[in-house]
Amino acid sequence: MKTEGISYILSAPSGTGKSTVIKRLRELAPNLKLSISHTTRSPRKNEVDGEDYFFISEDEFKARLEKNEFLEWARVHNNYYGTARQTIDEARENGWDVLLELDVQGVQTLRNMTFPGVYIFIVPPSLDELRRRLVRRGTEPEEKIEQRIQVGREEIKRYKLYDYVVANRDVEETASTILSIFRVAPCESKRFQAPSEDIQALLESEGEG
Ligand code: 5GP
Repeated sequence: MKTEGISYILSAPSGTGKSTVIKRLRELAPNLKLSISHTTRSPRKNEVDGEDYFFISEDEFKARLEKNEFLEWARVHNNYYGTARQTIDEARENGWDVLLELDVQGVQTLRNMTFPGVYIFIVPPSLDELRRRLVRRGTEPEEKIEQRIQVGREEIKRYKLYDYVVANRDVEETASTILSIFRVAPCESKRFQAPSEDIQALLESEGEG
């Protein structure tokens, strides 16, 4: 029987530790595919084209946008980011579970189109801790750190866009909580997939007799 994959949509304010959590999740759930976005941002050191993102020029991004190639897209911190429809279609056709890492605007777009998925938001344990993590990460100049915290505050206010909200106090604990969400999601009755043909027949006769 063909199984359908589930899309997991994950967001977090910048500096919350999302990348570290995702790295751990990929170790714990190796079958999960990561949707690789397109971006006009320059690669950071250690980032690999085609693995972390598809790094493209603004002209190319706009050309793809014109051709309606993106399922959703957003401008974040002066760069464009988008999810290719093809990536998600491929996952769907193959029954893969896929993880989409999106900002809050992208999530709003998907919610507006009632895109089916499990929406998860990671928040920092406190704003002070967020500031400490951004300083420690050292990828942003000081004036940009306050700007990111401000954006983060606005994002946290929109937590109700998500099905689950997890406070990232500790990577191991957060990854384990999200793994529990991955385990439970396929058992939600609206997503349940019959384990055999005879159970499937019963599911299809729901409400009869
Ligand atoms: P970063 O530049 O730090 O990798 O990502 C900046 C923000 O853009 C993060 O919140 C990240 O989740 C978001 N982002 C990455 N890819 C996409 C995408 O395809 N669409 C949207 N809407 N946001 C994305």
